[in-house]
Amino acid sequence: MLKVLKFGGSSMADASQLAKVKSIVTAEESRRVVVVSAAGKRYSGDHKITDLLYLCHAHLRYGVSCDGVWQMIVERYTSIRDELGLKTDLESEFAALREKMDAGISQDELVSRGEYFAARLMADYLGYTFVDSARWLHFKLDGTVDQESSYEELRRLAEGQQVVIPGFYGTMPDGSIKTFSRGGSDITGALAAAALDADVYENWTDVSGFLMADPRIVKDPEPIERITYSELRELSYIGAQVLHEGTIFPVREKNIPLNIRNTNQPDHPGTMIRERFDEAEMTDDRFITGIAGKKNFSVITITKTGMSGRRGTLRQILEILEKYGVNVEYIPSGIDSVSLVVASEKAAPCLYQVLGELQKTICPDAIHVTEDMAIVAAVGRKMAYKPGSSGKIFATLGENHINIRMITQGPEELNIIVGVDNKDFENAIRVLYNSFIKGKEQTI
Ligand code: ASP
Repeated sequence: MLKVLKFGGSSMADASQLAKVKSIVTAEESRRVVVVSAAGKRYSGDHKITDLLYLCHAHLRYGVSCDGVWQMIVERYTSIRDELGLKTDLESEFAALREKMDAGISQDELVSRGEYFAARLMADYLGYTFVDSARWLHFKLDGTVDQESSYEELRRLAEGQQVVIPGFYGTMPDGSIKTFSRGGSDITGALAAAALDADVYENWTDVSGFLMADPRIVKDPEPIERITYSELRELSYIGAQVLHEGTIFPVREKNIPLNIRNTNQPDHPGTMIRERFDEAEMTDDRFITGIAGKKNFSVITITKTGMSGRRGTLRQILEILEKYGVNVEYIPSGIDSVSLVVASEKAAPCLYQVLGELQKTICPDAIHVTEDMAIVAAVGRKMAYKPGSSGKIFATLGENHINIRMITQGPEELNIIVGVDNKDFENAIRVLYNSFIKGKEQTI
């Protein structure tokens, strides 16, 4: 059994957080591979080391002294080392880096040092081997990861060992350091888990899993216990703050379960993400896994008698939107009409041109645009097996005086999507949460 664990910035923020990490790692023999982020915020208003490193680089670029910011970085890591009684020689590392900075260092290389120092300290603290990501995580010239060579190299360096790996960076073919985009240590963790064929990838953060709804809308939403990769994708597409898809593809590809856990609440099981679940193990009869949504859509409705029977109309309509770079999110349609749901932000700058071209090309009976529409999606793999799920959802929204302007469902029956007025958005989410998840009245 092998578990690959990734600890985010808040888990690495200070000595007491590192102590929690150590007790989590040592609690199970299978936790042999640890990937870390740079030290994050200790309290609100504090600074992430990565942000300070970007700031240092900006100072260097404009020829302004970065001594003050640099000192904050040095002090943070030195105090972690000293408080934990470690012997890591940070002084000569810092001196060498300062020299490089004065000689001219790339932004990517400088900001990657946050993860590098964090991993050096963690390796020392755990008594694990430090495996530099510069040695195994290879990028191709186009900036994507060379999975084959990276996996092979990590297996060579880490197989059968206890290792700590810095997240966020790797090397380009010319040996220079390249980082992922912000938050990229999650990807390093997933790549390491995939390379080593881990049994599970544990992503340790400061929340006990993904929440069933946005906590800014619903008070204290419950965390999702189990979710499939497809459901996660639906939720994140529609606006939920969950892991980015790019983060999970290496583990999804290898069918490795991903478990989101909370360093500050290590006994909480968090959220388990898998390709599929044995539905027999489901304990409750909830059919919604999570609720998410977004505001500010425009709906362009085109009506033309006999439209369904005319070949090519939909293609012509979509070509016009494509020409103006407007993504079509949903296409509810009737016999004589079709609606295009588009993000208002994208459509607004070219709306009149688009309408003009539609008029000219399609010669419709009517075109009208509805603004200020919000989309709310109830996502749940169990909806496909539960007769009446959609009926219940619509009825509940209706009973709560929420006018449904549009209904659509994906072909996989993973979600039910309703369009409501922007003004009803928050209420629709609360009503769905209270009725189908919480099962009791809630105020916010
Ligand atoms: N430290 C990097 C950042 O703040 C990467 C990470 O933590 O995932 O974006």
